[in-house]
Order: sequence, then structure tokens, then C-alpha cells
Amino acid sequence: MSSPTSPGPLHLRGVLLDGTAEGERVGELWVTAEGRISLDPVPDAPTVADGAWILPGLVDAHCHVGIGPDGPVDLEEAREQGHTDAASGALLLRDCGTPVDTRPLDDDPRMPEIVRAGRHLARPKRYIRGLPIEADSPEELPALVAEQARTNPWVKLVGDWIEREAGDLAPLWPDDVLKAAMDAAHAEGARVTAHVFGEDALPGLIGAGIDGIEHGTGLDDTTIAMMVERGTVLVPTLINVENFPAFADAAGEKFPRYGTHMRELYARASATVASAIEAGVPVFAGTDAGGGIVHGRIVDEIAALAQVGLGPARAFEAACGAARDWLRRPGLVDGAPADLVVVDRDPRTDTDALRSPSLVLRAGVRLS
Ligand SMILES: [Zn+2]
Repeated sequence: MSSPTSPGPLHLRGVLLDGTAEGERVGELWVTAEGRISLDPVPDAPTVADGAWILPGLVDAHCHVGIGPDGPVDLEEAREQGHTDAASGALLLRDCGTPVDTRPLDDDPRMPEIVRAGRHLARPKRYIRGLPIEADSPEELPALVAEQARTNPWVKLVGDWIEREAGDLAPLWPDDVLKAAMDAAHAEGARVTAHVFGEDALPGLIGAGIDGIEHGTGLDDTTIAMMVERGTVLVPTLINVENFPAFADAAGEKFPRYGTHMRELYARASATVASAIEAGVPVFAGTDAGGGIVHGRIVDEIAALAQVGLGPARAFEAACGAARDWLRRPGLVDGAPADLVVVDRDPRTDTDALRSPSLVLRAGVRLS
């Protein structure tokens, strides 16, 4: 028998999903003693799934390991956050910015794989205190981006935030600086994304060639068309947009314009995301876990995306095969790490099937 933290050999049989809306075949696969998928039989492998639905690990495309409701947490709490995500089936995370270096957790077999964006980049007093690296002058941005891009596959910008004098959301960066920043990241082989709640920061960011937009509640027909043309992706974080009225309440007395603006963005958020989906913007599932959202809620975001216009099959894909492909990670192919989830019915017609996996394997190690 393998110990709880050692991988296979294991054998699984059932409907093998490639993580997209359509791809499936009935078949079997094995997990090697090294925790890799084998499509050839592996001897002495007990059957741990039979007649089930077998899918690649889910993806949380926007979360923060190392941030809690009160800001940065210590490494052991970050580890607990990662364990919670992985146990829920989210075996691949795109960390969208954290002040905690979580790389020492990478050899923990119960941690998900993390694709990192390093530290948030912002300007002084223009983001949550204690989280970002702050550029004293906006002209510093390209150099700060290059620095993050050298050690991370993604770079995270704060695109807009409340500006106290205006009393409302406002962009942080001028357009020419953004273009130089995107070029600096791309020269290092990294991709860039930005936190954006409002309207005004979007044309500059998308026009500069940014790769992704987070939240995107301020999108309109013009900026949606720009994203379609450039292939810019959107991670709407719908379960965190549910917190907009609370954000408005918290700041609305001091900054009434901001409060009104946030309520307006919230009121039309479902229609905004539906328009982006309808127009063909690639959308992925991200929870924004780490601040106001607890870890382990990827299925809630999948359900929210299904509701807002993706439907269950494409919402599943947005948190599985399509998202893995976008983050350049394999599915259930020979030799790939055995990161997989087993459920008892088709998650493409019933996303709730993902709430109670009968088996979760991370590099072949059984997490549930
Ligand atoms: Zn976030």
C-alpha cells in the first residue's frame, strides 16, 4: 500500500475528460510510482476509480496565497490556504499577487501548483496597504515590471483604485508608461494582468497590449471589442464582485462618488460579463481568494460563470482544460503529472458534481 503522501501505482477507469466542453472518451489510465500519468498499464496498480468521470485538475485563475482578511499571513497560514484550494480540486493556481514568497511551499505534496505573478505593482496609497511594491513615480513602472518578470511568469498591476482627491476610481499609470511596461514584461517572456474595477483605465491597458484584465466590471462595448481584437483574456472573479456593495458601504461616506460608482458597476456586472462572453472574450474562472474570499471556492465561481452566460459546459472548461491550456499546463496525457479529479457524474451538465469529488490526486498523491 502506498503511504498517504506517496503516489501510485494506481489504476482509474471511466469517462476521461480533457477538460474542454466536448472532449471525452471512455478508457483507463494509470498513475506511476513517480506520480505521473501512464496510458500503458502499470503492474500491481489497485483500481481506485471505476465508471467515474475523470478530469484534469481544476484551475483557480485568480487567487492570492499568502493574503488573509487582515493582509499578509505567515508561511504556515499560506500553506493552509494552498491545502484548502488543492483539496477542493483546484490543483493549479494563478497567484495574482502576494507579498509572501510561497516558493518554499512548492515541495509540499499537498500544495497545488502555483503560477505566480510576484508582487502587486501600485503607486503610493493606491492599493491595500502592505501588499504592493509602490512606484514613487509612474516612470518607474517598466523597471519594476521587468524585475518581477525575471522571476515570475506573470506580472500584476493595479490598474485603477480610489484616488482621494477625485474621490473616485482613477487609473494609476499613463498610457506611454504602460506600453513600455508591457514591452518589458514580454521581453522577459512574462505576461501581464491588471486589477481594474472602473472604466477609465481599460483603454490604456488593453491598448498597451496587456494580456489579461482582472474583474473588468467597467468594460463597455468599445473596450470589449478591443479585447476581442487583441485576444486579451478576462477573469471576472464574480464571487468577489458580490462584495462591491460592501466596498461601497465601507468607503461611501468619505467618498460618495466612489460609493455610487461601485454600486453602479455592481448593478450591471452580470450584464457586462455576459456581453464580454457574447462578444468572444476568453473568460477564465478565478475566485480572488485571499482577502474577502476564503480559499477553496472554485466551484462557486464556476457556478456563477455558468449563470452569467457561459453555461455549465463552458464554465467547466473555463476552470479546467481551457484554463490549463492558457497557463501552458498539460491535461491527462501520458507522462504528465497525475493532477486529476474524479467525480460521480458529468460536471459539464452539472457543475455541482465538482463539489464532492470522490478522489483528488496531486502528482499522484491522494488528497481526498
Ligand atoms: Zn485579487
